[in-house]
Amino acid sequence: MNCRICPRNCGAEREKNTGVCSVTEKFRVARAAPHFWEEPFISGTKGSGTVFFSGCNLGCVFCQNFDVSHRAFGKEISDVQLMKVFDALIEKGVHNLNLVTPTHYAPMLAKVLKEYDSPVPVVWNSSGYEKAETLKMLEGLVDIYLPDIKYFDSAPALKYSNAENYFEFASSAVLEMYRQVGNLETDENGIAKKGLAIRHMVLPGNISQAVKVFTWVSENLPPETYISVMRQYTPYGKAVDMPPINRRLSAREYSIVKEKILALGFENCFFQSKDSAEENFIPNFNLEGVDLLQNFW
Ligand code: SF4
Repeated sequence: MNCRICPRNCGAEREKNTGVCSVTEKFRVARAAPHFWEEPFISGTKGSGTVFFSGCNLGCVFCQNFDVSHRAFGKEISDVQLMKVFDALIEKGVHNLNLVTPTHYAPMLAKVLKEYDSPVPVVWNSSGYEKAETLKMLEGLVDIYLPDIKYFDSAPALKYSNAENYFEFASSAVLEMYRQVGNLETDENGIAKKGLAIRHMVLPGNISQAVKVFTWVSENLPPETYISVMRQYTPYGKAVDMPPINRRLSAREYSIVKEKILALGFENCFFQSKDSAEENFIPNFNLEGVDLLQNFW
């Protein structure tokens, strides 16, 4: 069947070929391990059970996980093996199952999640470049949506992600997510149980995007919406040769963004410290959590 899961609409026959997202219909996973560098309401004290899926339907030039997203580094696994990966993470005591870059596997994941009765919340950690109609198949299966809204204007979306229509899709995707799960709810320890939180990584030389994105959020969602304004940008991949994104964000740029976003009246804003641009926030993609799967058989 020709795949039209995401806004790329590339029509790949994924039974045998890869799409623009670089993968077939079979799950590929690059890493599955507790992760401690998400927002505090996701990582908590015991870590978030991240499962990094290979391939990506957006493919940003600055991607920090380039080998995984653009080159589909990872191990092919079955539905049953993916459930074993979930089990192993839960046994480690993680707060949630965090599906990272899952968009191009949406129907396959809906099928697995219908069978897998997770005792912890399921997080959909995506680029935001997805179709609302595709997200509808996840209703009742995903507890927490953690999408990016990366761009407001089409020019940077085209330049950095070859996705001129990014905001058109991301904005309707976020509204669909909110319709399904509502505002973020946390437990007595401040750990997320259900709801929506929106991320934006501020790009150097592009701070107007952050302001426009969160202005739109403030006009379309309630002030208690959780937002995360990330400053961890570090140039990777093709971005190393693409000014102005060939450098880190300056303290002044982040401070301007912070001031303007605070003025929008959000009640739950998360800002990152300067240290966040250090490389140790980026996990080592070494098949941890998936390379020993043969032991299950
Ligand atoms: S999910 Fe992949 S194969 Fe399907 S339309 Fe998007 S890019 Fe193409």
